[in-house]
Amino acid sequence: MSVRSGGCLCGAVRFEAREVPEAFGACHCEMCRRWTGSSLLGVTVPERSITWQGAQKIVRRQTSSWAERAWCGDCGSGLYFRVTQEGPYAGDLELPIGLFDDPNGFRFDSEIYIDHKPDSYAFAGEGRRLLTRQDCVEKFGVLDSE
Ligand SMILES: [Zn+2]
Ligand SMILES: [Zn+2]
Repeated sequence: MSVRSGGCLCGAVRFEAREVPEAFGACHCEMCRRWTGSSLLGVTVPERSITWQGAQKIVRRQTSSWAERAWCGDCGSGLYFRVTQEGPYAGDLELPIGLFDDPNGFRFDSEIYIDHKPDSYAFAGEGRRLLTRQDCVEKFGVLDSE
C-alpha cells in the first residue's frame, strides 16, 4: 500500500489516495474501451481513502445497472469507475493509473474481459491472471456486466 497523488489533464480535479495497492489490472470490456479509447488500466482503491480537490468538477454517469464512471467536467479525463451496487465491491473505485503524478512502481497482475480484447494489440509479458467475461459475471455476480 502506498500514498499517491494524482489529477486530471487540466488540474481542476486533484486527489490523494492513501490505500493504493501495488497490483493493477486491465479491463478490455466494451464500455471501458469506449470510455478510455483503448483499455482501462486501473488500480482498486477504497473510496474512503481518497481525498478530492475540485470535487465539484467531477461529472458522474451511471453506465450500467451496477456501476458508474466519472470524469472531469472541464477537460474530460476519466477519473474513476465505481461499483454502485450493494455487495463486497460497493464503494471501491477503479482509478486509472495514468492519473497518478508518478505512475511507476505498480505490478500488472490481471486482465479481465480478455475475450473482448481487440485482436490488434496485446500487452507484453506473462504470468497475469486472465478472466473472460463469463469469469467476471460469476465473480462479480452481475448479469449485464461491464
Ligand atoms: Zn480536468
Ligand atoms: Zn471494463
